Amino acid sequence: MTDRTYLDWNATAPLRESAREAVIAGLALVGNPSSVHREGRAARQVIEQARAEVAALVGADQRNVVFTSGGTEANALALSPAIEVAGDKAPCDRLLVSAIEHPSVLAGGRFARPAIASIGVDPDGVVDLDALERELAKGQRALVSLMLANNETGVVQPAAAAAEIVHRHGGLLHVDAVQAAGRIPIDIKALGADLLTLSAHKLGGPKGVGALIRRDEAIHIADPLIRGGGQERGSRAGTENVSGIMGFGAAAAAARAGLAAERSHMLALRERLETGLRALTPDAVIFGAKSERLPNTTLVALRGLKAETLVIAFDLEGVALSSGAACSSGKVAPSHVLAAMGVEPALARGAIRVSLGPTTTSAEVDCFLEIWRKLVETLSVSEKRGLAA
Ligand code: PLP
Repeated sequence: MTDRTYLDWNATAPLRESAREAVIAGLALVGNPSSVHREGRAARQVIEQARAEVAALVGADQRNVVFTSGGTEANALALSPAIEVAGDKAPCDRLLVSAIEHPSVLAGGRFARPAIASIGVDPDGVVDLDALERELAKGQRALVSLMLANNETGVVQPAAAAAEIVHRHGGLLHVDAVQAAGRIPIDIKALGADLLTLSAHKLGGPKGVGALIRRDEAIHIADPLIRGGGQERGSRAGTENVSGIMGFGAAAAAARAGLAAERSHMLALRERLETGLRALTPDAVIFGAKSERLPNTTLVALRGLKAETLVIAFDLEGVALSSGAACSSGKVAPSHVLAAMGVEPALARGAIRVSLGPTTTSAEVDCFLEIWRKLVETLSVSEKRGLAA
């Protein structure tokens, strides 16, 4: 990988060294964490250590962390009409989600389609809190799911203000903090989120492990997704992914210890990147630029250029990045995030996402800019030729 420049950290982050060591140590553990013998207790102990590390990353109590197979499962677990608070069994009748959520939230969990409503965002990519309040004022008890930061634009959402509105109307708030964790400080209590989702692989842990975190013990999801042996206090059955959880714990500890330094490092590089983009291509549009954004994310488009072409061309030049559009089953679909922001489809089709990490270097940013300069020249010429033909 040494000749490669990896600028796709929002898709997944490279494993941190301490997480790699923890995963390997975990693979050597023999016991099942549910067993009462010494081997079992040793496996239980490392899981509880990791639980404490993950809880500390978001200011939560260790007892309130439920390990899952990733962010997708944690989101699916959270989106339930049967969330009890202090024993109150009144169900949530509706699910309100912002229009820019990850597909695992847009899928709606255990809510029936007609019970789900979408809340729009403004052209800068920020959720419309007035629209949220109007929906909540309709009266039925709602669970609201709002991401802390968007995976495509990096735009940070006003989750604490949303929590205040949601609670005033007797609702509950779930916050998908998968992209925000390790990049901006998170305190579940200060945010006022009732439930919060994390994923290990976005902060330098292994893929396939995540967590759903409750603000306090009074919150209880009465219909867990996976039932069986009663692991995770009945919230998620199945023998725990011991080595994955250990890697998650190590990554969370490293992310928390390094947060301030990593954040300013990434922010300085993003400034360098965006200053360079604006100098080379003054017409380039950086989405959400007027909003508070994650320190590591730039979603940019230049009219007339197609994202698929750029992503492939960058890959051939040794640079890994993403298009802003979702690509599944070989089809590139226009970004629902940019559509919700009202970006015209012709411009949205050109959006590429450059996402940086704590080990990204200024040389890598300069390498991106140099290739961007070359590609914009050659692709624009061929585009014009195509139009003339
Ligand atoms: N939520 C957001 C905002 C994400 O960006 C992602 C992954 O891209 C997920 C949830 C899903 O997490 P995982 O890949 O762990 O299932």
